[in-house]
Amino acid sequence: MQFSKFGEKFNRYSGITQLMDDLNEGLRTPGAIMLGGGNPASIPAMQDYFHQATADMLANGELVSALGNYDGPQGKDTFLNALASLLRDTYGWDISPKNISLTNGSQSAFFYLFNLLAGKQDDGSHKKILLPLAPEYIGYNDTGLDDDIFVSYRPDIEMLDNRMFKYHVDFEQLEIDDSVAAICVSRPTNPTGNVLTDAEVAKLDELARANGVPLIIDNAYGTPFPNIIFEEVTPFWNSNTILCMSLSKLGLPGVRCGIVIANEEITQALSNLNAIISLAPGGFGPAIAKHMIESGDLLNLSENVIKPFYQQKSEFAVALLQQSITDSRFKIHKPEGAMFLWLWFDELPITTMELYNRLKARGVLIVPGEYFFFGLEDDWDHASQCLRMNYVQDEAKMRAGIAIISEEVAKAYA
Ligand code: PLP
Repeated sequence: MQFSKFGEKFNRYSGITQLMDDLNEGLRTPGAIMLGGGNPASIPAMQDYFHQATADMLANGELVSALGNYDGPQGKDTFLNALASLLRDTYGWDISPKNISLTNGSQSAFFYLFNLLAGKQDDGSHKKILLPLAPEYIGYNDTGLDDDIFVSYRPDIEMLDNRMFKYHVDFEQLEIDDSVAAICVSRPTNPTGNVLTDAEVAKLDELARANGVPLIIDNAYGTPFPNIIFEEVTPFWNSNTILCMSLSKLGLPGVRCGIVIANEEITQALSNLNAIISLAPGGFGPAIAKHMIESGDLLNLSENVIKPFYQQKSEFAVALLQQSITDSRFKIHKPEGAMFLWLWFDELPITTMELYNRLKARGVLIVPGEYFFFGLEDDWDHASQCLRMNYVQDEAKMRAGIAIISEEVAKAYA
């Protein structure tokens, strides 16, 4: 079949496709140890809550109404109102429903935003999204209608006690000129669990405003929901910020609901894109989220159920890894949020792509580091010494998975 240029580009077997295939296969293969994709954990208290909430919504007619009607292209009005009030009351942000638009998952919000801003411009020039710190979220990589829409920079690496490290933005290196369309960071970061400090975000905001470009903050794991963030940091938004949120990591990836908080021009643009591409975003997720806001449960569950659940899992996995892999060349990025640990095997004689294949052959799925360093000017050996592992599986699977990783890493070093 002859595909168009668009068809050829989007028909590639991309890193994110492999990751989602692995996730699907892993979830359905008995015995597989899924430390790969970003499926949220089945938290019993959240499962119970969603059972009850959907039963209540079925009883009062909200559920069938959400399923039986199209919303407008900006997304369900009642949820936009409830969320604008929540964010105004919680953080004092100067926003109204005109600052919020919904998409079918935040993944599609990134597709919209990156292509709204970057790529070929009317005057023939080509603009890029600047990622100040690689590694960055694999899901951005293949989203451009045009090729080569990212430029990224290596971080400063701070070595910490206890075989831990933390990445920081290396501001000295960042070069911003007319070829930059926007700055984008995930905070907490997928894949590393890093959380940019308030000072780093303030500096990025200044840089963005000084250069007349928006700052996109991917808050898929951040505050106020799902709140998988273990550091005390200040949530950030102003009219030059495009803050992207999601219901997925709250435990609702199946509803495919992304939320973009931005100025009115961007909100209007996203609504227009929604109408053309999908008529309207799905209404089921926003209906549940509205129910959770009105009952006061959304922030309460995020703070008192979701965050402690992930924090405890993360601490357990770190302790297990440190006991199991004693090699001094092994280090863990300080886990500050999100649902992953980022492992660095310095001087590893094989690539983590090869390690991924060896682990997959033994039924353990992780994500090799190479995928997360797109947009860098030069190759960096660090990229093939790191891997991302999800830490949300039950204790038995975490033990079994880490034991196999530890054996394969020892073999590779030997
Ligand atoms: N951003 C980050 C950092 C993610 O990790 C993910 C999913 O894993 C997404 C965005 C997209 O999530 P969704 O489309 O489910 O909202």
